[in-house]
Formats: sequence, structure tokens, C-alpha cells
Amino acid sequence: MAFWIKVCYIRSMKVLLQLCFCFISLFCFSQQAKDVDFKSAKVHVEIQPTIKKVKGQVAYTLDILKAVDSLYIDAVNMNIKNIELIQTHQQGDPEFLNFECKNNTKQLIIYYAFKQDKRYELRMEYVAHPRKAMYFVDWVEGVDTVPIENNIKEIDLRKQVWTQGQGKYTSNWLPSIDDMNDKIEFDLSITFKKGFDVITNGRLTHKETQDSTITWHYDMEQSMSSYLVALVIGKYDKKIKHSKSGIPLEMYYYPEDSLKYEPTYRYTKGIFDFFEEEIGVPYPWQNYKQIPVKDFLYAGMENTGTTIFSDSFVIDSIAFVDKNYVNVNAHELAHQWFGDLVTETSGTHHWLQEGFATYYALLAEAFFFGDDYYYWNLYQYVQELLVQEKSGQSSSLLDPKSSSTTFYKKGALVLHLLREKIGNRVFRETVKNYLLKYSFKNVRTEDFINEAENFSGKDLSGFVNRWLKDKTFYIDDAMESLEKSTFIQEYLMVDCEIASSKCITYLNSGISDESKEKVIAQNANLIKKEHFKNSVKVRQAIARYLVEIPKDLKIEYESLLNDKSYFTVEFALYNLWTNFPESRGAYLRQTKGMVGFRDKNIRTLWLTLALLTSDFEPENSQQYYKELRDYTNSRYDFNIRMNAFKYLSMIKACDQPCKNNLKQASEHHVWQFSKFARQLLKEFN
Ligand SMILES: [Zn+2]
Repeated sequence: MAFWIKVCYIRSMKVLLQLCFCFISLFCFSQQAKDVDFKSAKVHVEIQPTIKKVKGQVAYTLDILKAVDSLYIDAVNMNIKNIELIQTHQQGDPEFLNFECKNNTKQLIIYYAFKQDKRYELRMEYVAHPRKAMYFVDWVEGVDTVPIENNIKEIDLRKQVWTQGQGKYTSNWLPSIDDMNDKIEFDLSITFKKGFDVITNGRLTHKETQDSTITWHYDMEQSMSSYLVALVIGKYDKKIKHSKSGIPLEMYYYPEDSLKYEPTYRYTKGIFDFFEEEIGVPYPWQNYKQIPVKDFLYAGMENTGTTIFSDSFVIDSIAFVDKNYVNVNAHELAHQWFGDLVTETSGTHHWLQEGFATYYALLAEAFFFGDDYYYWNLYQYVQELLVQEKSGQSSSLLDPKSSSTTFYKKGALVLHLLREKIGNRVFRETVKNYLLKYSFKNVRTEDFINEAENFSGKDLSGFVNRWLKDKTFYIDDAMESLEKSTFIQEYLMVDCEIASSKCITYLNSGISDESKEKVIAQNANLIKKEHFKNSVKVRQAIARYLVEIPKDLKIEYESLLNDKSYFTVEFALYNLWTNFPESRGAYLRQTKGMVGFRDKNIRTLWLTLALLTSDFEPENSQQYYKELRDYTNSRYDFNIRMNAFKYLSMIKACDQPCKNNLKQASEHHVWQFSKFARQLLKEFN
């Protein structure tokens, strides 16, 4: 394979020396950041989406902290040329230097006797065809305008470009530094065809219009790790609000989603203001942008000042009840301090990012939804950790290979317990000073613990051993803390594992919805007519757990189809259709126009049931089949496609076009979806 391919343009006329490059990457990562400090990067990229091509120029300014004879930049499979190394002098002209270089398809290595305490500039031009970290969504390869066939209309296609640096490496599309320990001030300019919005880190300073393209110039004032560089290109509208402190909060949405803007971004300004107050350190960046994208890899990603999130969180006010963006919104915003302002030195300290973001998101939600909500969620985390413990999968919070359950949920629980131990005031002082001391730097767990010990005057080594180092999950200690909440006490007390006459009275009492849901999950057959008078959430539990519907509850159960919850309607429609064949037509007529969440949970179920109900609109069945099959097409997001594939395979109706779409799905960039598609393909073969 193409090891050591020499494609870089070499200024030096000397013959390339045969040097030994046997450094291990980890060794070399930690080494370079100690000796070489990349300060700033001026980047210009031009993106051609139909051929998945990035053409760019980068100019890095770097300081040499300790004399070295080489340095590298991470650059995956790039064609790099016109490299220039320049020494900048305090006085006089910049000096163009003779040097040697190698491009080993992972890194560009520059050989030169770099002198201590000197500043250099490194410039290059490159071309990349990124296979990960930058994603081209809904562009037809090699074609600029999409042929109008199979009902595909131009307007149906999202046509986006977006990036994901964490875990994927920005160096797939931009020569940069994979090591999180080198923080760089990145200023990006991006050239793209007209008619699109181009969004990246920092503040938009100006746009330059060319014949068919526009160049968008952005400016960052502060430095960040390379994995937090991001861009999004697509068609958007946006609304801007300002935080109490005056930071612009830019909220993007698709032009057709103007009615979904409010429920999607509900509480955004409140969360922002809450964090600045609670954390005690001003938001560190110039502005805060949030942009939904199609087929994102995760729920959200906290790129510096520029959160990208899955458009499955773009919702209407009915969906808000069951599936809103509030938690992800708060989590990614918390990362702007915990992760972006102070960044882990290595995976060992990953909880300093994920544990903190999870904990602070919960604090923000508690601010709006109350303490019961806070304790309820912590209780769920504890249950998840207990399952992990029982399966022998528990791990130390400081193990870089820990599960996300450990990093996120145990991390959040540990912060809750630490706050209890050292008290509110000291905890907040600790966090504030930790952030101020390490702003724009990298952190280790001991940096945080030292601050906590300083401010509390307590020796925390016992706490650290038990909760951070030990892999055992101390469930009794965790529960002792949670049981301080009367809400949790009640929930634990209400138990109908063994049905008793008392259980039935619970459902008419003033206990919490969560406790009632527990009773229903344990004993759905206790349900009587009067229990339908409960809240939407309790009624949802009835729809979920009461699957064999007694005849005398038919009318009450049918009323669930009118609830303002897409989950409730989905469960109720399916259960009613199954239990009462004589009323199938009526149920289908009643729910005919309903779509549900963004993944069309109700519509795809409805189409399936309509096809299975032979006497229901037989004249339309072909049209319904086509619609369901059409949802397997790549122009729909993967959640819709997954529902359509699931139902089509269930009714054994995945025909050749459906199978072709499934085959194409098996190569999708969202691994959960491609895995699902590959498994289903196997079943067909
Ligand atoms: Zn996170």
C-alpha cells in the first residue's frame, strides 16, 4: 500500500535522506505538544460535494518550545503540495527555509533543525477526498443537479455537508493535530456554491461573492483542539436571541420547519443563562450556534461554539412530551466549558467531559422541571449502572476503555456525591476556579480534585479511591444518597411485584406519575375505567402495557387515539387493531392523516396495518405500498428508513427496489443503521 508515498513538493535540492521513523504514535503525540506549540491556523477550503473533494490551503504559525529536528501534522490520504517553511523574525523579512518532508498518508513530516524559542510559519496546499469526519449527504455522485425520477424532487433532498471530528479526526479533511493537547486558533474561510448557508466555528466577518460561489470568512478569537473544528453546509433559516450576558444564540432550522423552531429550541436561552450563573465563569466563545443535520452520527456534538445535532430532535409541540431536545441541548452547551474550554489530556480523564456535561445538563433540567425530575433521572442512571455491575461490566471512571454508561452516568453521579460531600458553596467555588485556572488548557482528574481539596480543606483520597479508581459500583451508597428524596422514597415504596388490593388504590391516589407507571408495568390487568382519567404519561403506560384489552375497556382505550402523544397513539393503534378486528377500518380512518415523530412512527405503522386490512380501501393499497416502500429510499433519514424496512420485512413485502435500498443502506455512515441493514439482508438471503 501507499506507505511513504512522496507527493509533497520539496523545496530543498538535497537528496532525501533515509531516516528512521519508527516512533509509536502515542509516544510521538505526547512528545510533539511538549516541544512544538501550534498557535494559529489560517485555513481556506473549497468544497465540491458531488465529487466529495476538499481543496485547501493552510498556514500554521508555530512556536518551538524545545529544539527539534522534525515535526508533523496529521493529514490522512492527502495530496499535499507547495509546502513552505518560513522563519519569522522580529525585524526584517521572513526567511524561506530549505527543508525536507515526507507524506506517509497519515502525517506530513517536516525535517528541519527547528530552533528553540523561534516562531515559524508552515504553509501548504492540499486536496482530500475524506472518507470519514466529513459527510456529504444527498449529493448524487458526479451529478450537480439530481435527475427527477422515482418521484425524487430536488426539494426533497437535503444536500448537506457536515463534519464530526471527535472519534473520527479532523485530519481526514484538514491537515491538523489529532492530539487534543495542542490548542490552536483556527480561522476558516470556506468557498461553496451559491444558495447554501456555510457555518463554521467563530464569527462570520464577511462574505465574498464570485461567479457561482461565495467565500464565507469566519474568525475565532480563542484556541481549541482540532477535533472541535466543524462545518455545516445546507439550506437553513435561523433565529437569533441574546443571552443575559449578550452572547448571540443562533438557532438554525430547515426553512419548512418554522413552526418547529419554538418546541425544538424551548428553554435554550434559559439553559444558557442558568449555566453562566451556576458555573460562575462566562461563556468562553464569541457566539453559540446550533445546527440540525440529517443522518448525524450521534445525538449532538459540542464543536466549539457550534453544536451540530441530529435533526430527529427537530420536533413539534406534541412530540415535545416524549422526545425533546432539552437534555441534548443542555449537554452540548455544558461541554462548551467542560471539554472545549478545558479539555482532557487523554481518554483516562474522559469523565471530566462527559460526566460533567451529563451532570450539568441534569442541573439545568432540574432548574426548569424541579428536584423530582433531577432525582428521577439520577435514579435511572443508578439502575443502568446496576445492570452494568450485575453483568460484570463495571469499570473504573479513570479507565479510558470504560463504557459510556460509566463515563456519562457514573461521572454525573460522582459529581452529585462530591457536591453532597463538600457542600454547594465549596463545590461551585471548586468548579469555577478549576475552569479559570485551566482555561484554554488541558486537564487531568487530579487538577480538578486538587481544587476540590484546596477549597474544602478535606482529604478526598478515600472518595477518589472508592468512586473514581475502584471499578465496583457501590449501589448502597448511591441509593442512600438518592433516598433523601421523598419522591424516590415513594417510588421505592410503591411496589406491586406481588399484586395486592392496595395496588389498585395507588392508581387513583396522588402518587407521582412515575410510581403509577411502575404499578401499571407490573400489573396492567389491574386497570379499570377510572384509571384512564390519569395524565397523558400514565395513559401512555396503559397503552404500552395493557396489550390484551378487556371488552369493557374498549371505549376508554379508544380515547387514547386522541391523546397528544405520538407514542401513545402508536401503541394504542396497534393494540386496538389487534384486539378488535371488527373495528379496524374505523381505527384506520380515525388516524389516517397522522404522521407522528420525525421518524414517521405512526404513518409507517398505519400504512402497514392498512395493507394488512384486506377490506380497507383496497383501491388504494397499491399506493400505500408504494409510499411505504418509498420510505426506504436514501432521501429519507435513516430513522424513517429503519421503520419502513422493519415493517416491510415483517409483512414479507420487501421487493427488489426495497432490497436495493437495503443493500445501499448496509454501507451507510451511521453504523447502527448499516448494521441493522446487513442483518436484515442476511435474513433475506
Ligand atoms: Zn457529551
